Amino acid sequence: YAAKARQCGSLIYHAQLDAGSQESLSLLSEMRRAVENDELRLFLQPKIDLQTGRVIGAEALVRWQHPTRGLVPPMQFIPFAEQTGFIRMLSAWVLSGAARFARDALDAGLNLRLSVNLSTRDLMDQDLPAKIEALITPRNVPASALCLEITESAIMDDPERALSTLEHLHAMGFKLSIDDFGTGYSSLAYLKRLPVDELKIDRSFVMAMERDLDDARIVRSTIELAHNLGLTVVAEGLETAKAWALLAQLGCDEGQGYFIGKPMPQEDFIAWAQAWAPPEAGTLTAESVLA
Ligand code: C2E
Ligand code: MG
Ligand code: MG
Ligand code: MG
Repeated sequence: YAAKARQCGSLIYHAQLDAGSQESLSLLSEMRRAVENDELRLFLQPKIDLQTGRVIGAEALVRWQHPTRGLVPPMQFIPFAEQTGFIRMLSAWVLSGAARFARDALDAGLNLRLSVNLSTRDLMDQDLPAKIEALITPRNVPASALCLEITESAIMDDPERALSTLEHLHAMGFKLSIDDFGTGYSSLAYLKRLPVDELKIDRSFVMAMERDLDDARIVRSTIELAHNLGLTVVAEGLETAKAWALLAQLGCDEGQGYFIGKPMPQEDFIAWAQAWAPPEAGTLTAESVLA
């Protein structure tokens, strides 16, 4: 996260470089105010079935509609939120928005699975499963309508404790996904032990696969690995028709990316999904870059 945020050249992120500074204290109070004043926005990005083109879900991605800085992307405040522990409040906000949206979608006749990103600190919270259940039960949303995305690094911080939370969540029926797969300090031994349902190939590999044979091979092997472990595999960063065709050819199950749809305000999603028409069969073709 730190490295990624630094690449973004984030103004806000610099505040945490000396924690306890006036700047970071004011950022923390600004974030508290953001929740109180309803400045957070829930964006949704579609996930589709690569074989049929059907919309099957959406990933919830947070933005901050800041009164003076405009729409602030998550990489500019999530790392700070993680450091200060504020992330738990943020995750609760996103989870509650996702549960509410899952209900609205069901009422509109759409059966969508909502994916929510969790951080290490969330996994260290033993009450997390009960908290999520309290969000879905009154709305009559099934646990399987939520998918919780975690990164390899979030698990590796304290694998035993993370495993216990994940097992609990899995037993309750929530879907679990490993996000940004291939970029963290993964351990295949842990991957085997984790009760996960889905693996998301990091967008860096997917975005490069058309021009770089090594990336294409990594994508192919990851799809195979996921399937051998009985996991659904999702490609993120699907930006072109050709990438879709290649991924479908390689047997990848699901896709998410700008070619299908960018993250959009949640208010726009249902209309977008109802208007979505996958490309006509036969229009998606690609000569395999892999022999
Ligand atoms: P992520 O979970 O891997 O989410 C996917 C990111 O890839 C999103 O960036 C999305 O806009 C971007 N993306 C999707 N398709 C494409 C594509 O085709 N091309 C390119 N270039 N990018 C694509 P976003 O929304 O800026 O979020 C960045 C990261 O911030 C997320 O990565 C996630 O790690 C974190 N994040 C976002 N919302 C939350 C949240 O509510 N809680 C937590 N803990 N983390 C969040
Ligand atoms: Mg994610
Ligand atoms: Mg990702
Ligand atoms: Mg990520």
